[in-house]
Amino acid sequence: MKRIMLDIDGVLADFVLAYTREAVKLGFLENPISTIDQPTWSFDGIGLTEAQGKEVWQYIDSQRFWWLEKLPSLMTAQQTDRIRALKYANELYFCTKRRAPETASISIQYQTQAWLENTIGAGGMCVIPSMHKGEVAKALRITHAIDDRPENVVEIAKTVSETYMFTRRYNELVYYPKRVADLDAFLRLLESQ
Ligand SMILES: [Mg+2]
Repeated sequence: MKRIMLDIDGVLADFVLAYTREAVKLGFLENPISTIDQPTWSFDGIGLTEAQGKEVWQYIDSQRFWWLEKLPSLMTAQQTDRIRALKYANELYFCTKRRAPETASISIQYQTQAWLENTIGAGGMCVIPSMHKGEVAKALRITHAIDDRPENVVEIAKTVSETYMFTRRYNELVYYPKRVADLDAFLRLLESQ
């Protein structure tokens, strides 16, 4: 029985595509950009000024069901089948730093859980919204983790030796030895152990 911690944005969901679609609607960008093509983490890297980036966030924060309705999945049908199978035999935790605005009436946890259940096609998805992924991983005695953000990977890897960085353009220059090039590689690794 493995206790697996999965990141969502940049790994399972294309947050940047959803975010930049809003920037296009607000007239700040010509075209949206996928997390697959995103060159850096900064607003600058996706062609927005800081003020424009904050305005997009304000718009997102004003929408009740944005996180449930607007996030494109990065998973194929075959991958969701495999995640479902893994869930039946292991403990899966979806830990996210998504933050809810003070004014939100619908919680991030509820929206994220509903999105995962709709997308993966199984109930009982365990979502943990937390800014402290390392502490969460330690408390849950996580055995395997995946994340695309170097800071998170380093924090989680302090207690979880099987922590993998999901390689994306925006993290490929960061030195970290345990990497997976795609979700299939991480799923294969979990299925083989
Ligand atoms: Mg992420």
